Amino acid sequence: MKKSICIAATLVLAAGGAWAQAPALVEPDDAKPAPPAEARSFDASAIDKTADPCVDFYQYACGNWNKNNPIPADQVRWARSFSLLGERNRYLLWEELDAAAKNPKTPLEKKYGDYYAACMNTSLIDKEGLTPIKPALARIAALKDTDGLAALVGELAKDGDPAPLFRFGVQQDEKDSSKQIAGVGQAGISLPDRDYYLSSSKRFERIRQEYREHVTKMFTLAGDTPEKAAAEADAVIRIETSLAQASMARVEMRDPEKRYHIYTLADFQKLAPDFDFAVYFKDIHAGQFETLNVSTPNFFKELDQLVEYEPVDTWKSYLRWHVIHGSAFDLPAAFREENFNFFEKTLAGQKEPTPRWKSCTAQTDRALGEAVGQDWVKAHFPPKAKASMDQLVAELEKELGEDIKTLPWMSDDTKKAAEAKLALYRNKIGYPEHWRSYAALTVKRDDALGNAERDGVFQRNYNLNKLGKPVDEKEWGMTPPTVNAYYNPSMNDINFPAGILQPPFFDADMDPAVNFGGIGVVIGHEMTHGFDDEGSKYDGNGNLREWQTAEDRQKFTERTDCEVKEYSSFEAAPAHADTPAAHLNGKLTLGENTADNGGLRIAYMALLDTLAKEGKSIDDKIDGYTEAQRFFLSFGQVWCQNQTEQSARQSAMTDPHSPGRWRTNGSVQNFDEFGKAFSCNRGQPMYPENSCRVW
Ligand SMILES: [Zn+2]
Repeated sequence: MKKSICIAATLVLAAGGAWAQAPALVEPDDAKPAPPAEARSFDASAIDKTADPCVDFYQYACGNWNKNNPIPADQVRWARSFSLLGERNRYLLWEELDAAAKNPKTPLEKKYGDYYAACMNTSLIDKEGLTPIKPALARIAALKDTDGLAALVGELAKDGDPAPLFRFGVQQDEKDSSKQIAGVGQAGISLPDRDYYLSSSKRFERIRQEYREHVTKMFTLAGDTPEKAAAEADAVIRIETSLAQASMARVEMRDPEKRYHIYTLADFQKLAPDFDFAVYFKDIHAGQFETLNVSTPNFFKELDQLVEYEPVDTWKSYLRWHVIHGSAFDLPAAFREENFNFFEKTLAGQKEPTPRWKSCTAQTDRALGEAVGQDWVKAHFPPKAKASMDQLVAELEKELGEDIKTLPWMSDDTKKAAEAKLALYRNKIGYPEHWRSYAALTVKRDDALGNAERDGVFQRNYNLNKLGKPVDEKEWGMTPPTVNAYYNPSMNDINFPAGILQPPFFDADMDPAVNFGGIGVVIGHEMTHGFDDEGSKYDGNGNLREWQTAEDRQKFTERTDCEVKEYSSFEAAPAHADTPAAHLNGKLTLGENTADNGGLRIAYMALLDTLAKEGKSIDDKIDGYTEAQRFFLSFGQVWCQNQTEQSARQSAMTDPHSPGRWRTNGSVQNFDEFGKAFSCNRGQPMYPENSCRVW
């Protein structure tokens, strides 16, 4: 139940997203790991000199790179910074895992080496067939009536089998962040978003038809007759469509007040009297609690209706599907292939399956990240890098403080409150001070699916064990090699894993303009999250509490509305045939866009300060570009990327981050200093006119 706001959709090391629990990945047999290309910092050869930076800055900064770097067959998005660095980190992690699998030197190496080796052993996986999921399927087959549904879902969850329908876990209380409380919320669908089930457009009708064929095929592979499999697929889609209808939309879920509803256990049970939550909580050893946060109460009312009216056979099909689907990665080749064909190829436009070594490296990182990460940081994150980061973060924090002081729209009272919040920020850089223990996780070298299931139980127990205990402020929500960063509003902390503190984001050999345009903007971005439309609802202690005056909140909203309008006008994918163009959802991406704009501004201020200290000017040139131009080019080049159209459409609905083109152009056209740096004229698209500014 971890909630945090990060710099980019996690698309490299830890495959993220609700539907990615079962990444469908079939390795081409000849795929051998090879060291990937270096991710370079500032790159003049990426620039498209035929483009005018004042007309389309993204095209100018990235045009040549995008033209010369088509999407590799095993990817749906290929980004100059995130993908290249992510591939490099993954390769270095693979070297470690491969060595540990062959010749472990410590008990911890043995553990993660075995986890990786079991995942890679596809000949054993193929030979085992359905054996690993037979106990779960037998349990489902034995369900007699829907009165037994809660106990069955609880038993499946207890053993780490896929148990859908809702999420349950321990979280910080939104209004008293010192408390760890139980929380429950919506889940249970397989497609990337509720709208995939509900939209009446032709494109989604087609996707649903293909989904139905996919579910049917998976049931057939599991041994059902085509007729039975088709009937089961209809049952699955009926339940999932009802759950989608009952679910709150992503934009609403971004509002913390809308997902905060404290219930007593008795009142929660009244929302869904036909589903015995007491039995479920007992099954998974949820511990003792009297109250819990129900993020989506209406969802549970609808769930109750479903339990009451859907026949037991429909439920059996639904649960059976989730066991097969959720285990597909560790089932025989035919399942992995079919899963790839629908979820990666059809939905996202990926041409070839991800090589197994990449997926198994990501899986091992997810399961044992702080075990593998200990050795990874020793090899790849020198203390010097941490010291430079500490200094950069301090500089950016100072600039955000200065920025708050000069905001034209904010009253003095609110400024004081904002400064007080900023003073309480906690910075976490590189890797945790204390590493997690993995003693309670049993890993077997000959049991890939069993390892994944035991890991699921291990992670859940770790989370449930927090109930009623003090919050661990030193805990991390990302593993060390991850190429990403995040802000957590309940902790009021910013977190930068070692994985991102490397070129092209951060390069000790480059001039300050390049580093401030890279890692400087990333730091500023995370800091601004504490003050975006979501983060600003929490105070410095991580509690949901208004600290702006009513008048300032209104002005704040007028300013964020400006960004909503701006980004909603941007196109994510073009129209053709019976498929309309996809636009960005300015409300879904508002927090990220605000963070991009604020981050760009305060990183630029920090650059000015640094140059002044060194007696240099923003107009000094290096290799033909002024410091100001290098700053903006470095920023733009973080976002060079190619993406399949299918994936771009999916992201437009599900990803709170705008695509690279609009992260770049959307931000620079709001910032006066950009227009000056490239001598843009009034009337040109990138000239900051009627621009939006929140921070
Ligand atoms: Zn972000």
